[in-house]
Amino acid sequence: MACCPKVPLEQIIQPDELIACEVTDQAFDGVTDIITNVVDMDEDAVEIVENVDEVVDEVTDLASAIKKEEGALAIVQEGVDLLDESTDFIKDEETAQKVDAAFQGIKLGLGFINMIPRSAMVQEPYNYAETRPQVKGTINLVCIGLKWKNARPKQIVSASKARSIGRQVANFYQKSSRGLLKFNVTGHSFKVNVPGRTKNFNKAKNDAVKKFQKPGKTHYLIFSSLNAIEGKRNSNAGKGVAHLRGDSIRCAQHEEGHLLGLEHSGAYIKGKLDAYGDGHSVMSGLPANLLTAAQYYHQGWMPKDEAALLDLDKPDKVYELKRVNQFDKHGLSCIVYKRDEGRDVFISRTQQGGLVIHLSTGPGSQRVKMFGGGRFHDKKFSKLFVEKIGATDDGNFLVRAYIRD
Ligand SMILES: [Zn+2]
Repeated sequence: MACCPKVPLEQIIQPDELIACEVTDQAFDGVTDIITNVVDMDEDAVEIVENVDEVVDEVTDLASAIKKEEGALAIVQEGVDLLDESTDFIKDEETAQKVDAAFQGIKLGLGFINMIPRSAMVQEPYNYAETRPQVKGTINLVCIGLKWKNARPKQIVSASKARSIGRQVANFYQKSSRGLLKFNVTGHSFKVNVPGRTKNFNKAKNDAVKKFQKPGKTHYLIFSSLNAIEGKRNSNAGKGVAHLRGDSIRCAQHEEGHLLGLEHSGAYIKGKLDAYGDGHSVMSGLPANLLTAAQYYHQGWMPKDEAALLDLDKPDKVYELKRVNQFDKHGLSCIVYKRDEGRDVFISRTQQGGLVIHLSTGPGSQRVKMFGGGRFHDKKFSKLFVEKIGATDDGNFLVRAYIRD
């Protein structure tokens, strides 16, 4: 039965990543042997042993390739956690002592891996994704509150209220586009001489647009007084004109998004696609103050050096990701996995900091998974393993993404 590190201490006084890997490798071997031989063969124990085996395989891979201390660290830590669980299954004292000695070996290896300077990490340049045509320029945002004949005063969106909502929408897209879009916002009120009925709506809308028409690129946000139109028309947008029920800024942001070419942000929730389910984007059905990385990219609003192409030939390549909303910070916002078939995959970080995987249909996106750390295997769509292997002092995540044969 193998156990304990076989490398004498004096050989590893100087930190050396290869030796550190060997130490952990051998220690894992020892522990795995012990556990395999002593566990009660109940399901939990078998599962732990299988997991440890997997971790050992990875450490063995790492032992042959130095300078990956962050990845090794995460993997070894995972192994230590698993082994901690396994001690419950060890019955006799002698074996428990051997496991403990092997643990010390692992921790020793861990310590050395920890000491390897970050400069030893492979810092390869990124290949950036091709840039998209930019949605940019100056847009007249004409915001009109309809004054239906039968509307009560408090149902009416006034000219100043319409303008105020328009300004907030403009600020959002000016910021989201990193200044590529600019807006001239005006607010108006339009008196309609008929009651608010579904059959009267299109004419009222067209008359309002005609009255306040502007040359140049113009979007019209038409605020209809809430519930004043029979038949409960939903908000919608097309051909430069958005119709808004009520005075919600969220709806206005969403519909202006459509006018700028965006589509919905969905999410797979318990395996089923909710077409409006990604609450991190204003293009969902939920309150939000951002778009998804896939959407920023599609609109041409992500600077060239913020979207790295995933290199599947380099599974150990480390990508350093800031959060998607850190517009003022230099660095990568997302990793793009371009696929010949199927939707492209975007790996980025949410406003809160966690990792998130999106599929992209171009203007729309579908969230596959959101997770705080560790590793996620997207078995269903991309087959990617996405893994947080560490973090920098200033809060960026060190991420790997790869496909395993
Ligand atoms: Zn919509």
